[in-house]
Amino acid sequence: MTPSYKGRFAPSPTGYLHVGNAWVAILAWLDARRKGGAFILRVEDLDEARSRDIYRQAMVDDLRWLGIDWDEGPDVGGPAAPYEQRLRRGRYEQALERLREARELYPCFCARSRLLSIASAPQGLFGDEPRYDRRCLRLSDAERAELAATKQPSLRLHVPDDALVTVDDRLLGRTTARPAEGGDFVVRRADGVIAYHLAVVVDDHAMGVTDVIRGADLFPSAFRQVYLAERLGYAPPRYAHVPLVVDEEGRRLAKRHGDLSLRALREAGVRPQQLVGLLLWLAGQLDRPEPMRPAEAMDGFDLARLPRHPVVWRAAYTAWLQANAD
Ligand code: GLU
Repeated sequence: MTPSYKGRFAPSPTGYLHVGNAWVAILAWLDARRKGGAFILRVEDLDEARSRDIYRQAMVDDLRWLGIDWDEGPDVGGPAAPYEQRLRRGRYEQALERLREARELYPCFCARSRLLSIASAPQGLFGDEPRYDRRCLRLSDAERAELAATKQPSLRLHVPDDALVTVDDRLLGRTTARPAEGGDFVVRRADGVIAYHLAVVVDDHAMGVTDVIRGADLFPSAFRQVYLAERLGYAPPRYAHVPLVVDEEGRRLAKRHGDLSLRALREAGVRPQQLVGLLLWLAGQLDRPEPMRPAEAMDGFDLARLPRHPVVWRAAYTAWLQANAD
């Protein structure tokens, strides 16, 4: 049976999870559980040079500590180990093959230095990301063969200029944009690593994910991912891009905020209920921060009550968590 709701949390094991990841995980989990939906954990570890076992293991432990569970993994019927993208390469290659047969891909030999030097005016949704100028799309067969003799190319998806994609985001509303504004994007890197957009689209489809809840920084990615899903004949999921948690300078929480890793908070004796209650208060779900397990917050949880602007994580919050630690 296909559930009417399946959500997911899909972190990369390139560092310890931090408060910003906990925020997304709790919101995605609560929205799924509130609706009687299933939930999966997917470890996005395709970039093996940056992924570490220690973070993979810590991610699972830290989510359990928070009170987040998931229903299935690669071992059907077995204990729910998460899905791991590095073990699913065959599926991504099959999708690439279909795109290649449909003549939607082309090899790109441009060096990173050249890509960085391509001047581009800010392009709507895609901001100041350099937009690829399609030099390699215009290569003759002879030029391509000559380059291929000495260089391993990346593969790009050709996104026609007139393609339009509409994303009806549960929080950000309905937006129609041209994914080509971001340029033809890489689906397999020159070092052979499958690129993020392709893996996410293939996996969300293969795993039956109906609802994607993730940080608002990934909103532009939705246009590329919906376009790619359509090319592969998949129905795209519903999206809700939640506000980011930022520090007092407005910077997105990241690995540099080491004291905000779940690991550091745990080591300081912080109790998960305190952190969860604080995050739910910031999410507009509680009138004041009160200790709570995610499962206790299910009744009445409503994503629509989230603020529509970035949420500032104040130093006072960390101090409050530490003051209430064991
Ligand atoms: N793996 C991505 C990240 O850690 C998230 C992917 C997604 O939610 O689509 O930022």
